[in-house]
Amino acid sequence: MVLARDIDDLPKNAANYTALTPLWFLERAALVHPTRKSVVHGSRQYTWQQTYQRCRRLASALSKYSVGQGSTVAVIAPNIPAIYEAHFGVPMAGAVLNTVNIRLNASTIAFLLGHSSSAVVIVDQESFALLEEALKILNEKNKSYKAPHLIVIGDENCDPKTLRHALERGAIEYEKFLEIGDPDFAWKPPEDEWQSIALGYTSGTTASPKGVVLSHRGAYCMSLSGALIWGMQEGAVYLWTLPMFHCNGWCYAWTLAALCGTNICLRQVTPKAVYAAIAKYKVTHFCAAPVVLNSIVNAKPDETILPLPHVVHVNTAGAAPPPSVLFAMSERGFRVTHTYGLSETYGPSTVCAWKPEWDSLPPVTQARLNARQGVRYIGLEGLDVVNTQNMQPVPADGKTVGEIVMRGNTVMKGYLKNPKANAEAFANGWFHTGDLAVKHPDGYIEIKDRSKDIIISGAENISSVEVENIIYSHPAILEVSVVARPDEKWGESPCAFVTLKPGIDISDEHRLAEDIIKFCRSKMPAYWVPKSIVFGALPKTATGKIQKHLLRAKAKEMGPV
Ligand code: ADP
Repeated sequence: MVLARDIDDLPKNAANYTALTPLWFLERAALVHPTRKSVVHGSRQYTWQQTYQRCRRLASALSKYSVGQGSTVAVIAPNIPAIYEAHFGVPMAGAVLNTVNIRLNASTIAFLLGHSSSAVVIVDQESFALLEEALKILNEKNKSYKAPHLIVIGDENCDPKTLRHALERGAIEYEKFLEIGDPDFAWKPPEDEWQSIALGYTSGTTASPKGVVLSHRGAYCMSLSGALIWGMQEGAVYLWTLPMFHCNGWCYAWTLAALCGTNICLRQVTPKAVYAAIAKYKVTHFCAAPVVLNSIVNAKPDETILPLPHVVHVNTAGAAPPPSVLFAMSERGFRVTHTYGLSETYGPSTVCAWKPEWDSLPPVTQARLNARQGVRYIGLEGLDVVNTQNMQPVPADGKTVGEIVMRGNTVMKGYLKNPKANAEAFANGWFHTGDLAVKHPDGYIEIKDRSKDIIISGAENISSVEVENIIYSHPAILEVSVVARPDEKWGESPCAFVTLKPGIDISDEHRLAEDIIKFCRSKMPAYWVPKSIVFGALPKTATGKIQKHLLRAKAKEMGPV
């Protein structure tokens, strides 16, 4: 026992115990690979030494504006160098980075800026008019709100008028702002790793958006886990298809500095641009929601560069990837890692870890196994599927549905100024995801639905994901989303919203709908078969996720079947 105490009681000191933070990754990248390309945006290219200097300038300039610990700096921008720099420059000033989704409307942005008390807003020139509108709303609603400092990011690829307009309104140009800052600024790492590094708001479809707060410690753990999980190596060339404003690009903004890799920025994600970037920059990795993968596999032949010139690793999460899409991606030579998580867990937190014994299986079986959400990330201590009545794990039988709960170092600090939501989210010592899943005998979990997306027909639960996966294998279907529609007899029944592949004749919608329903009848239990098929484009979020709540509202409006 004496020995045990002697071992455990060795004290922490300044040399052996420092706050975990991903900010040091940048300093190291500049030291090890000063001349390697760090960030590429068309003709604008920076090295790690330049990026480090620019981030220190940003931190220094922000400090001159009295930004420091306790301040929040909002950034409204697509994937361009400035938002990457903000991931370091803002916390190097001691402040918290609040990344704002550029596709939100003005009143939601007004809410976010007010709720987060953002003292400075760094805004892309293309989003300046939207910000102006948001600030107008905010001024009217909240008289005590202090107008933020405005910094506008000019981009030679955009219309000069929008930049001129912002400058006329008194915004400072981002490059001019950096000039105020010192490139050798002596930034201080956080004293406490629990200090907040970032804030990101959930979409708030039913209530006001919730501000997810992340710590330096969690960001450190996640950025390294995010590299390990798909074997991402030093010097990786990473294409920014996933918006950095969404959950800090699942923390890959920091991972890339840890790996001294190269960030390829993409202002607009199209299959053509993705393939072109793969060819031009020899992209090794990118992250994307399944709908983006779907558009990649359905790209017109003249937009692709198939066969791929080298291995490209893809991390997909954000929604359940249909096995048919995973299959089509692997046929085209992409190596897809399927992960699952939430903004509340710094991005993905489970991975469908590939087993060598799957290598010899038929590709269709491989895709089916890979469509499962899998096992926990390295940064998580616990992941389970439980019966929420008693918090007991469900049996690993691949059938019993329960809620996914998680705990560990990559679970958020909590929601900003929202004790009620925090109490619910952290009930019984676990983070409650609201996602419903089964656990298979091999311990891998598989999502059946979000609790609010499940369709209850009669007394039976129908997994919208399972119905969608089957409809995805119909040759005419490009995209599908299945939601509950009121049903006089059964309470609810499945309603499928579908987009057809280009070139499919839609002159006879009735016949096409009949054909899809017939296809469903041959492949699923009768009560799963959608009673209605609606054709048209599907509404999506900025990350490319289909907005089921809008479709549900539409199905409700359509009235009972
Ligand atoms: P993100 O889109 O980055 O995953 P969000 O917080 O916007 O984060 O959305 C999280 C929700 O998305 C999860 O609760 C889950 O319902 C769904 N989701 C994410 N990844 C997957 C996946 N691989 N399979 C099924 N659903 C997923």
